[in-house]
Amino acid sequence: MKLESSKTILTKLFTEYYLTGTQAKKEGKPIAFITAFAPVEILRAMGVFCMYPESYAVVCAASKKASEMIHASRMSSFTQDLCSYSLIDFGTEHYERLPYGGLPDPDMLIATNNQCGTTLLWFKLLSKKKNIPLFIIDYPAAADDRPALRQYIRRQHESLVEFVQQQTSNPIDDQILSEQIANSKKTCQTWKNIHELNKQSPIRLSANKLINALFPIVAAKGTKSACDYYEALLHENQPSPENESKGATRLLWHGYPMWFLAKKFPGCFDTDFQIVLDDYTLWWDLDYSSGADPMEAMTKAYSSTYLNWPLNQKLDWVESLVDEYAIGGVICHANRSCRRALADIVPLRKRLSKRNIPSIIVESDMANPDFYSKEQVRLRIESFRETLRAS
Ligand code: SF4
Repeated sequence: MKLESSKTILTKLFTEYYLTGTQAKKEGKPIAFITAFAPVEILRAMGVFCMYPESYAVVCAASKKASEMIHASRMSSFTQDLCSYSLIDFGTEHYERLPYGGLPDPDMLIATNNQCGTTLLWFKLLSKKKNIPLFIIDYPAAADDRPALRQYIRRQHESLVEFVQQQTSNPIDDQILSEQIANSKKTCQTWKNIHELNKQSPIRLSANKLINALFPIVAAKGTKSACDYYEALLHENQPSPENESKGATRLLWHGYPMWFLAKKFPGCFDTDFQIVLDDYTLWWDLDYSSGADPMEAMTKAYSSTYLNWPLNQKLDWVESLVDEYAIGGVICHANRSCRRALADIVPLRKRLSKRNIPSIIVESDMANPDFYSKEQVRLRIESFRETLRAS
């Protein structure tokens, strides 16, 4: 039997995600808005259709609508402080030309703080404005090493089950939960394997292609379709040894891409310089390896997200990527929207500098093009290329 191509599966996944949300609403099925690192497996095992406003904000930014939507959000007094994903989401209420007709109204909201505190404020505002029940999960950092904290997280996951049961009357299906966890684990492992293809020169997938392949692990993790997609992508990009050759200077992009740019990273790269990895795409590779118990596996996976790690763990990890991927220079995106992600840039550059690895900072925003100066970024990257040539 001929395998479906990754492109076909991705198109189906994307379309089905939006169509199913609209259909679920029409049929009166429960819909949750959830933050990027919420334990989606529990919700799916309880018959809840989950939608990610952050992922939708990315779609709006890539459709070049972010600026108008942010202005429409009527939150201008907060614009300098709040994350542009949240402003885009607030803008959906007052904006008519929404991609895919917008997201259906949710019946419940699930927010976590394992990426930032902004999501809590954002979802609290949504809950208050629309009178929608909200469940918040607190993930203390470094819980992995401390049994009492793991227990604390596990109890919150169990409370989430009770909360969803109160909202929907649906029990949890243990078999679906186990399948979801197994699929999530496989998806993360395959995603990591796909990245590892780029340890070789020439690379197999450009950083831009990796960014464009992110949607299933964000919005469909836990499903069989997401597993099939990454298996197909891995299969299609196997290295061919006869083509191996020494390539360009290998660069790491640290942090968020710029969703409003057609190629997601500001340009001026040629055969001499190539972004081989954006570490942001690996932030989605969660560790579900904690035994056979699904609740344990989720406790480990969701408490140990990149943005929730202690600073030294983040620096060690990025440094290990620099070694593994033979990186010759690092471009750090100082993303105005994300204070949590901004915090590690200065210490990371100090760490890299001790090893004589050149780095620069590019200032912009992941979704709001109003904070992007093409000329300023071009000049910054041009001067970085000069530094790299001289080093
Ligand atoms: S971009 Fe940063 S601030 Fe915005 S939701 Fe994501 S983690 Fe939070």
